Amino acid sequence: MTKKITIAIDGFSSTGKSTIAKLLANKYNYVYVDTGAMYRAVTLFAKLNGYVTKDTFNKEALINDLTSISLSFHFNEKIGFSEMYLNNRNVEQQIRTLEVSQLVSKVAEISEVRKKLVLEQQFMGKDGGVVMDGRDIGTVVFPNADLKLFMTASADKRATRRYKELIDRGDKVTFEDVLFNVEERDRIDSTREDSPLTKAKDAITFDNSDMGIKEQFDRICSLVDQKLSML
Ligand code: C5P
Repeated sequence: MTKKITIAIDGFSSTGKSTIAKLLANKYNYVYVDTGAMYRAVTLFAKLNGYVTKDTFNKEALINDLTSISLSFHFNEKIGFSEMYLNNRNVEQQIRTLEVSQLVSKVAEISEVRKKLVLEQQFMGKDGGVVMDGRDIGTVVFPNADLKLFMTASADKRATRRYKELIDRGDKVTFEDVLFNVEERDRIDSTREDSPLTKAKDAITFDNSDMGIKEQFDRICSLVDQKLSML
């Protein structure tokens, strides 16, 4: 049997975690789990049910309704990666809007939400051969992951990437709003009580402000190959 490891990628918003994770999953034939998509899907559920808006948040109602949420990933052959489904509906487009980005960190602060999603993530990765990206993968979800990466980049570079993504999708957003959102999410994610975004002691930091995808990917592949050779 081929030897497989668990790769945890954490870091700030829009640091290209998912791009690297998808490339790794493709190259090593691993399962990719985008845990941010799961928090986004719960947020969409809360928004559609009126539990959360820009100005209000009925946490109790969301917590009481968590059992109505069923999340799953389905591989889309055409695009070559998995898409997020909420209660059997493809929500991949809806969860990527700036509106959801503006609400998601509030929802991700709730311990009951985190508990549910962490259990699902641990189940998805229980057999190894997984690349999982998020904010607490190396610290909480898989504290014994074989390889932990921590991605960072300047706020300006990150907002520029996210702004381009949203504009390319046809969303009407301003750069200032995107920059504000990226910084605000990082602030909430890093200061929340339950599982704050923090670098695991044994994680390797990648500041990709000025590093291209290819260079980053090549360096990370060397780290993976090194780990695999030690198994
Ligand atoms: O990765 P992405 O930017 O899509 O994540 C959206 C949000 O979901 C983050 O800003 C954070 O609030 C939350 N999140 C989290 N823990 C994770 C993944 C995402 O709290 N493991």
